[in-house]
Amino acid sequence: MPTIAFIGLGNMGLGMASNLAKAGHEVRALDISQEAVHKAVAAGCVAAKNAKDAVAPADVVVTMLPAGQHVKLVYAGEDGVFSYAKAGTLFIDCSTIDVATAREVISEAEAKGFAMIDAPVSGGTAGAAAGTLTFMCGGTEAAYERAKSVLDIMGKNIFHAGDAGNGQVAKIANNMLLAIHMIGTCEAFNLAEKLGLDAQTFYDISSTASGQNWSMTSYCPAPGPVPSSPANNDYKAGFAAAMMLKDLRLAKDAAIAAEAQTPLANRSEALYAEMEALGQDGLDFSAIMRLINGTLPDL
Ligand code: NAD
Repeated sequence: MPTIAFIGLGNMGLGMASNLAKAGHEVRALDISQEAVHKAVAAGCVAAKNAKDAVAPADVVVTMLPAGQHVKLVYAGEDGVFSYAKAGTLFIDCSTIDVATAREVISEAEAKGFAMIDAPVSGGTAGAAAGTLTFMCGGTEAAYERAKSVLDIMGKNIFHAGDAGNGQVAKIANNMLLAIHMIGTCEAFNLAEKLGLDAQTFYDISSTASGQNWSMTSYCPAPGPVPSSPANNDYKAGFAAAMMLKDLRLAKDAAIAAEAQTPLANRSEALYAEMEALGQDGLDFSAIMRLINGTLPDL
């Protein structure tokens, strides 16, 4: 069974690494936070002392880091894992990062003779802990096929989106669409209510009419109609507004680079940036409802 190095054991990485250890892999855990490493060890991983100790015995390296700059540093920095990996090591970066950095790091891996894919996820911390994440992968068919048996342990739906970086493209395009239909759904519920239609009645009609969408039927931003949605739990995150803003910023940068027009995404980013400026970006992303209907709590 392949030995796996896992780097970045935060909210997502801890659950993912734990599932790999539970499946019987030796998982060599590395993080700049010792507390994160302790938690991983308690979940069955082995503490690695440094990048060399994590990676040298590994057949597969999985990373789950905050942003592009961390990914670049961990892979290709002076003390980066490329320097310590043995020939034939497979790299899987599951972080959500900018498309350009994902492509650059994968091309550096390939230039050194390694196989690497980008494999960002959706499904949140609950999906990471339960092993039910969706993975969107970019890279060669051969690298994807090798990665699949490892990803299958951490996820339920695994997609090959095409060449290097295409996993990130799928992720940010999807989340851009999610932000847009979430905001549209909030506006519709707010307008209906202001005009005298209660949330449940509007839901019953619109969820079976042409306004129906995932934000409405699985994650309704108006309290009431969908009991499991964060709106019924004081908009406690789920998927924080800060995370959505991060993804919208990645989408904006990618759109500028590709000369793609994204007028609604630009407006969505401005609204989530307002949540950030108000210090409310720790709330769930559906709390944009409260920005729109003017009920954000005082801090
Ligand atoms: P997190 O901040 O909780 O975890 C990141 C971990 O990386 C931290 O433990 C940090 O100490 C570690 N780290 C940072 N730099 C490091 C370095 N140089 N070497 C070793 N470790 C380092 O973040 P998270 O919520 O786990 O998210 C990770 C990634 O997954 C992000 O790209 C995020 O956008 C994406 N994501 C998160 C969610 C979610 O719901 N949290 C959902 C989908 C995707």
